[in-house]
Amino acid sequence: MQQTLVLNATYEPLGVVSERRALILVLNSRATIVQESENVLHYAGGDLTLPSVIKLVKFVRIPYRHSVPLSRRALFARDGGRCVYCSAPAASIDHVLPRSRGGAHAWENVVSACHKCNHAKADKTLKELGWKLRHIPREPVGAAWRILGTGRPDSRWAQYLAPFGDTVAIA
Ligand SMILES: [Zn+2]
Repeated sequence: MQQTLVLNATYEPLGVVSERRALILVLNSRATIVQESENVLHYAGGDLTLPSVIKLVKFVRIPYRHSVPLSRRALFARDGGRCVYCSAPAASIDHVLPRSRGGAHAWENVVSACHKCNHAKADKTLKELGWKLRHIPREPVGAAWRILGTGRPDSRWAQYLAPFGDTVAIA
């Protein structure tokens, strides 16, 4: 099942819904299609192209901000797809302070790493190894990052997410 990116009336990304749910919003005049997908719904009355991106007609006020879900995809995107220790392509999640030593599975304590560095680091701390981080790990901010944790982003979404996240990479 393909998903559709939902934008607020102001173009701020709000989340994702199923293509069928998105189509219902469009047919009920609650949203307009910004970008079509290549999927076509065949029905008795004809064919309908399903939307890849829709925009709500009315502005929706968001009462609070969810924190960004910590996923492998979002983590690799935050760290540029590279090992934070040696810049090789990222292949695993490393806990800066190892979990065996009380390190949390949280944005501030996880980085993307290659297998070699992750294996070499094992349950040691950076201080013990004399290693340094290229940047301090933080939780990403921006509406676009919430979308990354919600399944399989469509590459067509990138241009709509980019203004609302730092450097959102969609594979
Ligand atoms: Zn490495």
